Amino acid sequence: MTKNKVIITAGQHRNEKGAQILAPLVAERLRKLGYKVKLFENPEKRTPRQIGLEAFREERKIEEKELEKILYQWEDRLYWRYRKFPILNFLYRKVSIFNLHDDTINPTEFVLEEELREELESIEAVYESFDLGDFKGDNLAHKVKFSVGGGKDITIEIPTISQTSLPEDQLEVLEKVFENPCSKNPAKTLFEIYCSYLLDTDIEETKRQGFLSQKMVEILAKGIDYLIKNEYNLE
Ligand SMILES: [Zn+2]
Repeated sequence: MTKNKVIITAGQHRNEKGAQILAPLVAERLRKLGYKVKLFENPEKRTPRQIGLEAFREERKIEEKELEKILYQWEDRLYWRYRKFPILNFLYRKVSIFNLHDDTINPTEFVLEEELREELESIEAVYESFDLGDFKGDNLAHKVKFSVGGGKDITIEIPTISQTSLPEDQLEVLEKVFENPCSKNPAKTLFEIYCSYLLDTDIEETKRQGFLSQKMVEILAKGIDYLIKNEYNLE
């Protein structure tokens, strides 16, 4: 019998450092459960904030296309590689793709507590929840969002604590660099729409809350195992 193949991606958003820490541990856990796991890390190592500050030093503004590339392109391309071409789709149909992201659960200078609550409610309304076995009803497990998109890859949002604000001088600089209007919402600048990607995960605080623990590794591996066994992502 061939082993189920699992692809885990981490680092599409380089500011989300929790996912990058957990991804290799989850991959290792799944290998022990008998899966063949491939871990892909975004080759871009700079955070959106570092990219913005570099653009400022180069005296240029970030264009919307460039920002979209930073925020989406790498995972989209990987998805295309494994899913969109009929021949690859045939060859790789037994491959499940899981994209690991951080999900900031604390209010920051860019996200109000109320918005966080609304977001949580809308996500809970859209996505299916499922049985996590031993972790059913577990407080930590319930903070993880397994987002199953219509037959596409699966996004796993890991709860994390974000830095709460940008240093004053960087805030000013980054507002300038990202001041182009957002085409989907021309009344707002790119900065206003995407500013939360400019704050990095506070690793120490995230660790303190238990979000980077071995238990979290177990919850993520268990969730992936469950989804595969229940054919959520297999065509
Ligand atoms: Zn993300």
